[in-house]
Parts: sequence; C-alpha cells; structure tokens
Amino acid sequence: MSPTSYQLLHPALFFVFIPAITPGSLFSKSKMDIVSLNWTAKIKFVSLQSKFILFIFSMGHQAGFVSIIGKPNAGKSTLMNALVGEKMSIITSKAQTTRHRILGIVNNPDYQIVFSDTPGIIKPHYALQESMMHQVEGSIVDADLIMLMTDINEQHDEQDVLEKLEGSLAPLIVLINKIDESDEETVMQKIAYWQEKLQPKAVYAISALHLQDIASFIDTILEYMPEHPPYYEKDALTDRNDRFFASEIIREKIFKSYKKEIPYSTEVIITAFKEDEKIYRISSEIIVERDSQKNILIGPGGAMLKKIGTYARKDMEEFFQHKVFLEMFVKVIPDWRSKKNYLKQFGYED
Ligand code: GDP
Ligand code: MG
Repeated sequence: MSPTSYQLLHPALFFVFIPAITPGSLFSKSKMDIVSLNWTAKIKFVSLQSKFILFIFSMGHQAGFVSIIGKPNAGKSTLMNALVGEKMSIITSKAQTTRHRILGIVNNPDYQIVFSDTPGIIKPHYALQESMMHQVEGSIVDADLIMLMTDINEQHDEQDVLEKLEGSLAPLIVLINKIDESDEETVMQKIAYWQEKLQPKAVYAISALHLQDIASFIDTILEYMPEHPPYYEKDALTDRNDRFFASEIIREKIFKSYKKEIPYSTEVIITAFKEDEKIYRISSEIIVERDSQKNILIGPGGAMLKKIGTYARKDMEEFFQHKVFLEMFVKVIPDWRSKKNYLKQFGYED
C-alpha cells in the first residue's frame, strides 16, 4: 500500500469524512425527516455511503481495461494468456479462432488490469462475424488503453483496423509481434512505419510467444491505468465460467484437427456440466451446418470424434484439475452462422 493510501485509510480520517455524508447533509432534511426517510432514499444513502467507503479504500489502487485488438492470427490470444499467466483464450494457427471478447484479469493488491482478448478484425460476411466485430468495437469503447497488435511478417491492409480506432480517445500502443521470426532491420522499419502512421504513445517490438519480462510490460501498462477501485473480485481471473472454457477446449481441438470449412462451421454447446466430487460429467453438442460436415467430423466408425474427445478430455482435466467424463453429440443446424436467433442462443450478442 502506498503512503498516501495508508494516510487516507487512517481511522481518524473516517471520523472527519463520514459525518460529512450523513443523511442530513445528503438530503438537506431535519432530524425528524431523516427518521422517516423512505426506503428508496435509505437505499440511496447506503449505496452512496458504500461508494464513498469504496472510494476511500481505492485511493492508490489502479484499475482499468486494456483492449488487445488487431488482425486475425497476430498473436493477441497468445499475449493475453502470457500476461494473465493462464490459458484463458484458445490459440491455433488458424485465423478467427477467437470468437468472443474474453476478459483476462491480472490482480495485485495495488492494481487490477482487465485485458480484453478480441476476435481478429475482418470485413464481416455473415451474422456471426458481425457479432464478432461488435465485440471488438465494445472493447474499444471500454478501453483505458488500446494495444494494437500486428504481425511483423504479414502485409495486411490494416485499413479496417484503423477505421475501428477512429473516434477513440483511449491512448494507443502498437505492438509489433513475432520478432523472433524477423531481423533487426525489418523491426526498425516497422517501428518507424507505425510511429509515423498512428503516432501512438509507444511502439514495442515483442515476441508474445517468448515474452521475457512480463513485469516491466505490466509496469508500462500501469502508466495508463487510472486510479479506480477494482471492477471484479480480486481473485477473479476472467468473466467466463467453466462451461465456456469446456466448450472452447473442444472447439480448439476441432480447429486443430480439421482443415477447410469445418472449424468455421462448428459451434460447441455444453448441455450439462455436473460437478461430482470425484468426476466432472460434461455433455456437449457439436453443431455443424451440413450433413456432409457431420460425417467428416465423426469420421469412419466414429474414429475422428473419439480422437477429439480424448484430446479435449485430457486438456479439460488439466484445466479443471479434476477427472472428466465427456460426452459429445453432433447435430446439424443449417446456416446457424447467419441466423440471429441461433447466434443469440449460442451466446453471441448483437
Ligand atoms: P490471434 O488470432 O491474434 O489471437 O493469434 P494467436 O494468439 O491465436 O496466435 C496465432 C498463431 O501465431 C499461433 O500459431 C501462435 O502460436 C503464433 N504466435 C503468436 N505469437 C507468436 C510469436 O511471438 N512468435 C511466433 N513465431 N509465433 C507466434
Ligand atoms: Mg485469438
């Protein structure tokens, strides 16, 4: 705790501050009136008082939202997982693996940094991709700091990324990623390019896959985090629940095991998640768009599905630190990616 926050937490100061927010001063009422304050007013008073106490306790505490955005495959999820120190987001070599905005929270007694890993920015072609882009936009609106990540080896037209940033007032840092696969000259050129193009607060050349000094990375981010009470419980790592991670683990295995359109046509729903003391019993539905995809997914004699199941179960056991019994069913819902009712049902917001 910093010396200032200690001073403000001193009991003597409560003595000075608390009487200043008695109902009398809040509502300008006489003592008799205070006794008869109606319930709404009482609740307002309690809420104001608790906000005030929270304010006192938060002095010296920093908290804020950091949005990691960029083209698909730049390494956004890799970076967030490295910073949070847990596998929050699934990572594959395929574009558009991340479909949701996923929060990864870094906690310390003095700060809480809430990272948003976001889907890669693309021109949307169907409703699912539109929802993915809305999640990117939401994370930009909320951000206290935006980290735009680029892949040093890709020659993307970044125009759609830059359009998303238009109108944003949040400070911007550009991260040039995958420098382990590049050379010094290219790195220097790219730094100069981004510096001139966007005039961000800073440009850093990194390798998210081999991030060395996470502590100084966090220190840099803290320079942009406002003084604020924590937004989430101080032991929270993410806003997502176990069902979400179970479905993401299965989706990751599908992304890694199939080529072409299968991964993009697949959604995974957890239909039951029963936490017994000895074993977690998880039932899932894998949704595809066509019968032909269902056949490929299942494979001859069910061999492919079995392989995915084993692979996913092992990962789940590691993630949940618990034995897992996993059931999987494959179901066809034609064109689910373009149907708003299904997208809503599957947890994609408008
Ligand atoms: P996202 O789509 O932006 O979230 O990218 P991912 O984090 O899923 O990473 C995409 C691919 O790039 C994966 O195969 C990662 O292992 C790889 N990758 C991420 N960071 C680095 C890096 O610093 N160096 C190299 N060589 N590969 C990386
Ligand atoms: Mg990702």
